[in-house]
Amino acid sequence: MSKIQMKTPLVEIDGDEMTRIIWEEVKKELIEPFVDLKTEYFDLGLENREKTKDQVTVDAANAIKRLGVGVKCATITPNADRVKEYNLTEMWKSPNGTLRAILDGTVFRKPILIDGFTSFVPNWKQPIIIARHAYGDLYKGVEFKVEGPCTAELVIKKPDGTLETQIVHEFKGAGVVQGIHNTNDSITSFAHACFKFALDEKKDLMFSAKDTISKKYDHTFKDLFAEIYEAEYKAEFEKAGIQYTYTLIDDAVARIMRSEGGMIWACKNYDGDVMSDMIASAFGSLAMMTSVLVSPTGEFEYEAAHGTVTRHYYQYLKGVQTSTNPVATLFAWTGALHKRGELDEIPELARFGQLLEEATIETLTHGVMTKDLISLSQHPDKQEVTTVGLIAAIRKALEAKL
Ligand code: NAD
Repeated sequence: MSKIQMKTPLVEIDGDEMTRIIWEEVKKELIEPFVDLKTEYFDLGLENREKTKDQVTVDAANAIKRLGVGVKCATITPNADRVKEYNLTEMWKSPNGTLRAILDGTVFRKPILIDGFTSFVPNWKQPIIIARHAYGDLYKGVEFKVEGPCTAELVIKKPDGTLETQIVHEFKGAGVVQGIHNTNDSITSFAHACFKFALDEKKDLMFSAKDTISKKYDHTFKDLFAEIYEAEYKAEFEKAGIQYTYTLIDDAVARIMRSEGGMIWACKNYDGDVMSDMIASAFGSLAMMTSVLVSPTGEFEYEAAHGTVTRHYYQYLKGVQTSTNPVATLFAWTGALHKRGELDEIPELARFGQLLEEATIETLTHGVMTKDLISLSQHPDKQEVTTVGLIAAIRKALEAKL
């Protein structure tokens, strides 16, 4: 059988610890035997980030801007312990933060569903995809603890020096006060990414906020989404047979709980933070959650939603064959290959991505799985295997399909 040829290389972003081991295994066993893989390789392993003074992260982001599609392995975000462990000269920033800042993207998180695995919300039959606005609000807030009586004011100072002031609260005793912001540029980028992703996935899009209470702040989100939708996406949505709806966050929660799933739910930063964890745990496991960053200009970066699985890596270093779940990492690759196939008009490549996903789902459905999934599966003869064992079983199922 001849290998599938590619045109444009993928931006391959390698990472750390257990996921770096899985990365290599997935490529060697499930991709390279079938695809003449072309990539531009960036090593974001912590040693190389240190060696390049983190320039490699910036280069990787620019490569995605140039080539359009990237696939990323999980990476360590250094903290004080890691600075010691890896003898770092600096506490390098989160690579995902750097990539997101350069690509200006929105993160979409999607669970991988398997028949016979318990969903804690029985009527959810299709994945619910969360689009989280990843800028501002609470996450860029400034706060005070107020010790006693005082006046808290919100002040805007314009370039000509004029001031606009509102009283937040006349404190009679102790309390707390907070100032948050967002920008029209960031909200606009978020809206474009959501509309583009909905068209790409051919799924309905719902955006929720609390505009009835927050008549300027949340209302601006609602208005910008509506303007952009009317001006640039309405016709395409109608053609694709999908819908855009704005609704209050409380109504959105009620709708989601009663739904069968299958939609994209765009959330403000805090709502998205909370709701994506709720969705992940209701559908089962962090190791079964994929994540894609979509830029407003249409670049895509695929990754697993989980981290580098440090505990398993230390076992691996002692020579233990671990049962670490490779599925989300594998789906990052299939998502990227599928997208590259679509953009370069190579149907065999897009189909390969899809068949590899089907082979994976089939293998899990037949009861072969890693340790983290055992308690979720209702398969009568479920069998716990190592990472290598699962990858081998998936390869067998894939070969049968090809
Ligand atoms: P983690 O996702 O690696 O692990 C969290 C928990 O989930 C652990 O109990 C782990 O055993 C389990 N788990 C996660 N993925 C699994 C898998 N594939 N198979 C089986 N079990 C799995 O997160 P953490 O422990 O908080 O962080 C470890 C490292 O990963 C840190 O250095 C952190 O900076 C990094 N991190 C990176 C990313 C990313 O690159 N996107 C995201 C989160 C954390």
